[in-house]
Amino acid sequence: MNLEKYELKGDQLPIMTYPEPVLSKVAKPVTDFNKDLEHLVKDMLFTMYHAPGIGLAAPQVGESIRLFVLDVDYDRETVTNSAGKEEVRLSGFHPMVFINPVITGTSGTTTYEEGCLSVPGVYEEVKRHKTIHVKYQDLKGDFHELEADDMLAICIQHENDHLDGVVFIERLSNLKKNFYKKKMLKEKVR
Ligand SMILES: [Zn+2]
Repeated sequence: MNLEKYELKGDQLPIMTYPEPVLSKVAKPVTDFNKDLEHLVKDMLFTMYHAPGIGLAAPQVGESIRLFVLDVDYDRETVTNSAGKEEVRLSGFHPMVFINPVITGTSGTTTYEEGCLSVPGVYEEVKRHKTIHVKYQDLKGDFHELEADDMLAICIQHENDHLDGVVFIERLSNLKKNFYKKKMLKEKVR
C-alpha cells in the first residue's frame, strides 16, 4: 500500500467501546509484516475516516497488537448531491501508520480537549507532552524516527496509550474518571 497516493478503500470495521476488555489489555508487538497486516491497516484507515476520527488504534477494532493509524490533516465537507441529499465528502488525506511505536523523548506540556471513538460523547481536557520523539516501524518493517509537536504529538500519545491498555478517561482526575467509568458501564448494560 502506497500511503503517498492513498485511496479511500476498504471495509468499515466495528469499533469497540469502553469497557470492552480488549481496550484495557497491553497489546503485543507486531512480528509479521505481511499482506494481512496491510489489509488491516487499509480497513483501519477506512474506518477512521468514516467514523470520522483523526486516529485509530488496533485494539479499538479488537486486534490486540501494537499498531495505530492517524491523520490530523484531512478535509471533511458536507455537500448536497444531485439527488438533493446531504453527503459527506472526504479529501486531502495524509495517512500515517505507526507500528511498534516507542516514545523515546518528551518535552513541555500542553492540554487539549480530547475525544475517543471508543468513548463516544465524552470530551475532556487531557494533559500531554507538547513535543515527543517517537521511533516506529512502517508496513515493510523498516524503522523510522519522528519529532512531533502539538496536535500530532497529542494524537500519537492518545493512540499509543491504547496500545498500553489506557483509554483517555484514565488520565482524568479520580472524580471524573469514576464518573465516566460508571456512566459507560451503565450505557453498556442498557
Ligand atoms: Zn482513542
